[in-house]
Amino acid sequence: MAIVSPWKQDFPVFTTYQELCYLDSAATCLTPKRVADAMHYYQCHLHANSHKGLYQLSANVTAQVEKARERIAEFIGASDQNTIVFTSGTTESINLIAYSYIASRLTSDSNIIISAAEHHANLLPWQRLCQQTGASLRVAPLDQYGVIDIAQLKALVDSHTALISISHSSNVIGKINPVQNICQFGRQRNIITVIDGAQAVCHGGINVEAIGCDFYVFSGHKIYGPTGCGVLYCRINVIDQMQPYQVGGGVIDNVTYESSRYLSGPLKLEAGSHNVIGIIGLVEAINYLDDIGWPDITHYLKTLSGYMQKSLSQLNVIKPVVPNSFITTHLDTQATPYLTSFQLDKVHSHDVASMLDSKNIAVRAGHHCAQPLHKALGINTSVRVSLGLYNERSDIDRLIDGLAQTHKLLLIE
Ligand code: PMP
Repeated sequence: MAIVSPWKQDFPVFTTYQELCYLDSAATCLTPKRVADAMHYYQCHLHANSHKGLYQLSANVTAQVEKARERIAEFIGASDQNTIVFTSGTTESINLIAYSYIASRLTSDSNIIISAAEHHANLLPWQRLCQQTGASLRVAPLDQYGVIDIAQLKALVDSHTALISISHSSNVIGKINPVQNICQFGRQRNIITVIDGAQAVCHGGINVEAIGCDFYVFSGHKIYGPTGCGVLYCRINVIDQMQPYQVGGGVIDNVTYESSRYLSGPLKLEAGSHNVIGIIGLVEAINYLDDIGWPDITHYLKTLSGYMQKSLSQLNVIKPVVPNSFITTHLDTQATPYLTSFQLDKVHSHDVASMLDSKNIAVRAGHHCAQPLHKALGINTSVRVSLGLYNERSDIDRLIDGLAQTHKLLLIE
């Protein structure tokens, strides 16, 4: 079966590192030339500060930022662009929600529910709020396939549950969680819902209104955009109730020495100057993906992922972090993951990554910012491989050879 990427040539890094086998797109995607070009062009030819200057150059930038808001709203199925806040990434988006909205709603009786598979970005802000307010943090377990166990999550909810904050897809396990079901359950009980979409956004087809969440967050660099630019979607009547956690230029309507009146809508949450070059890059990345076409992207990555899962499952020295994680089940919520994590029998994950690196194969090794998940799975670290548009069958074959050789070599030593 030939699986050859028609898009690999769009990524100039492969002209610099010709032998590179990049299997770490879950950490960050490589950059298509078109995205880098758009950013370069903007910075050289169009750059000015947005939302401030009255001259044409600045007004054009302001219009571009507002158009980007519209484009991103459309991309994630939000019908109003004023629900889109620009942040530096998923981490900032979640901290912003914590301090602009949730903190003031917690008492020592409250509880917050997360899942066992959260990235530290969707754990630490809640843990700290709980420490500050006396609220408690409850953790919903995963089922045997590594998906959030809906029944067990629902059983944790009571009349004091203020928030459910879960990942759409874990950065260690990669399966798609039943977020729509959980958000609708939350909404019926007036519980705020936050979805960490950092690893799901690359699957496309996000529709925040169908999901029914109050907040949805993601980072541009997980979909071939630049680092330092992310998105926070806030349901429209929620954004009206939010208070900026960072204040300064750009968020106010009127200021005196005694008091300030904030703007309405997303601008009040975007203190300081916008990361315009990042926003330009993110929009270009979305346009790039749309131009390729999501059905083609999904078909290609599903085929490649199927091949990867099968090849890994046939290597008997591989232990997936979740026993059944190479199996896709009948559940509708289970899209084919584009990433998977495992251990190589009796070899430390860091040694695996170093050995693979010596063969120009880039994988992630460690706890992937999910230490409690690894602990819950009874392991310290794992190796994670994740796919992007530039990967092809030969990358998986090199990975499998590399893993087999690593195992042989390190066991002999
Ligand atoms: N959540 C998940 C599920 C992630 O995979 C990541 C990035 N690894 C983050 C949050 C944090 O994203 P960022 O570093 O772009 O803020």
